[in-house]
Amino acid sequence: MSQENVERFCELTSQNVRQAVEGRILVWPIGGIEQHGPHLPLNVDALIPEAFAKALCLDHEAIMLPLLPISVRSLPQSGGGLQFPGTVFVEGGTFIDYLEQSLRSLASLPFRQLVIINGHYENEGFIFEALDKVRAQGGFGQRSVLAFSWWSMVDERWVAEQLPEFPGWHAEHAGITETSLMLHLHPQLVHAQRPDHEHPPRCGVYQLPLRADASTQGVLSKTSASSADIGQKLFAHVRRQIQDMVGEVDAQR
Ligand SMILES: [Zn+2]
Repeated sequence: MSQENVERFCELTSQNVRQAVEGRILVWPIGGIEQHGPHLPLNVDALIPEAFAKALCLDHEAIMLPLLPISVRSLPQSGGGLQFPGTVFVEGGTFIDYLEQSLRSLASLPFRQLVIINGHYENEGFIFEALDKVRAQGGFGQRSVLAFSWWSMVDERWVAEQLPEFPGWHAEHAGITETSLMLHLHPQLVHAQRPDHEHPPRCGVYQLPLRADASTQGVLSKTSASSADIGQKLFAHVRRQIQDMVGEVDAQR
């Protein structure tokens, strides 16, 4: 699949942007910059949603907005936490304000559907809140809006069949799915280590003081079974789920 011939919002001109987006789907990938263990780069949470956004643009002739790279903080039970260097973040209120104001400007354009694809676990609630503020102001009118984290598209049966030791999405930070997707999408950015963490955290717990064994070098679960093959299957599965959901929401209009 060539993802490079995607139509990009920022390459339009002011003169032709209204006409170009009229009746079309706009796709906005939202990422994050945070540590992903010793084997993955800081921009995993950006590269993965960007790849799904490009695929969606090809599948639905949609237009892609530029990736938003900076997001909210990394937390110990889902991202490893801020004791690891490299995480660049803004506070939740700032993130909501940024999104809300950007979405309000976008909403003046005549697109038919907006799709936001998130790649950073902690962003989700803030994205939903910003969208809901714009909705409450009447910003979207009757247009459809979809926002989700890419892992929300993964069918539970797929996980049960393909990943029998799956620890839960909160603990998947730098784990088997992100490592495998990166081996499929950007193998040159993946280092040879496959750290395993034997005790994935519980979901939905904030704990102080932080346990010394909370992660293995920032990895919250096992990575040793990761492969490009799993990444390729997972990418195809999520791509299909996104394609179907966007089509269904479109058909309900
Ligand atoms: Zn991640």
